[in-house]
Amino acid sequence: MMARQRRRSRPVSEFLSGMDAQGCVGGVSLVDLVAEFGSPLYVYDGDAIRGQFRAYLAHGLPRELQLHFAMKANSNLAILRLLAAEGAGFDIVSGGELARVLQAGGDAAQVVFSGVAKSDAEMQAALAAGIGCFNVESAAELQCLAEVASAMGKVAPVALRVNPDVDAKTHPYISTGMRENKFGVALEDAPALYRWAAVQPSLRVVGVGCHIGSQIRSLAPFLQAADSVLTLADALVAEGIALGHVDLGGGLGIETADDFMALTPADLSRALLERVGERPLRLHLQPGRSLVGNAGLLLSQVVFRKSQSGRDFLMLDAAMNDYVRPALYQVRPSLVNVSRPYDGVSRMDVVGPVCESSDTFARDFPICGERGDVVVIPGTGAYGFSMASNYNSRPRPAEVLIEGGQARLIRRRETFADLWAQEVL
Ligand SMILES: *Cc1c(COP(=O)(O)O)cnc(C)c1O
Repeated sequence: MMARQRRRSRPVSEFLSGMDAQGCVGGVSLVDLVAEFGSPLYVYDGDAIRGQFRAYLAHGLPRELQLHFAMKANSNLAILRLLAAEGAGFDIVSGGELARVLQAGGDAAQVVFSGVAKSDAEMQAALAAGIGCFNVESAAELQCLAEVASAMGKVAPVALRVNPDVDAKTHPYISTGMRENKFGVALEDAPALYRWAAVQPSLRVVGVGCHIGSQIRSLAPFLQAADSVLTLADALVAEGIALGHVDLGGGLGIETADDFMALTPADLSRALLERVGERPLRLHLQPGRSLVGNAGLLLSQVVFRKSQSGRDFLMLDAAMNDYVRPALYQVRPSLVNVSRPYDGVSRMDVVGPVCESSDTFARDFPICGERGDVVVIPGTGAYGFSMASNYNSRPRPAEVLIEGGQARLIRRRETFADLWAQEVL
């Protein structure tokens, strides 16, 4: 309770981003970063990412927990390398993500492959690399994987991703564990598929898993899913189908301006390990957002101010192509002008330059600003750069990683020539 009150006495947007009252992250001034690397700019706090990773492992139980970072949240090689050094494996959803893990020097044996429609080429690449587990999402995929592995003379390690029919109570676009979603195998179909898989020479059953959605704020849906999956695991073991691990996915939410997160990574891992109990099953989790989300900020600069029909607009040089979640999921970030204290009265619509009305970061938001001011969009370390595009022929931003008080460029800003580098006249 005390901790909560102490944290709440600061403006919410400051503690969300790890930014102090001087506009610094890890001792580095954000205004200086814009002067050095330009705007818009993604900035990540490496120490904060490490801290979140270690928080999952601080469950206080004498049990092992293996984390596979869901790298679609942020796939920059420097971030992958940082997490691999901490002991993370990776949850991948494409051949491109596998290639990134290998390029970053990650261990293929610590890779799990999720996704509803893996291509033959992706299966072949993952088998050749020797990944740790295919999370199979349908009967057709199981059959196809058995054939592809057999043709290569390999044995594919498999787990079924089951759909536990749990409502994660999150945005419909990021809810994945309900019966009507495209993800996973229905619980009641799983035993027959396991019986089939167990006798295929080119398949080796290693586990069972699920992933019910993203930005989940309470323990209940996780426990409900865990109970369903563990009940299935017990039934399989009783039939003589041995499993090595149970994978309960990712999905833990992050604190936002509107949402205090009472559930911490350690609370979640402890509760799930307790649910697994004395079963001889290793617990795997696949966190994405909760490892990197609040460790990242998008910096931008005010281009113009404009008043029209009774509304005041603050126009940034960052746009929906750089950070699409406000347009796609109606996320409302808590913005901060680090160049200027709030005047206490202004309310503005904060927008980007892209030719779409959905290119809006916040409406009627308590902020003031003038041309050139640096505006921070906190909580953008997950599904920020990884979802960025070149829409409106806008080069994507540079990325900077802060570690030990030092800022290092980890991806250069795209140039105009990068925009058409793949095109053929
Ligand atoms: C996206 C995804 C995750 C990570 O979800 P977060 O909400 O970012 O933690 C984990 N597992 C699978 C299969 C996913 O698709």
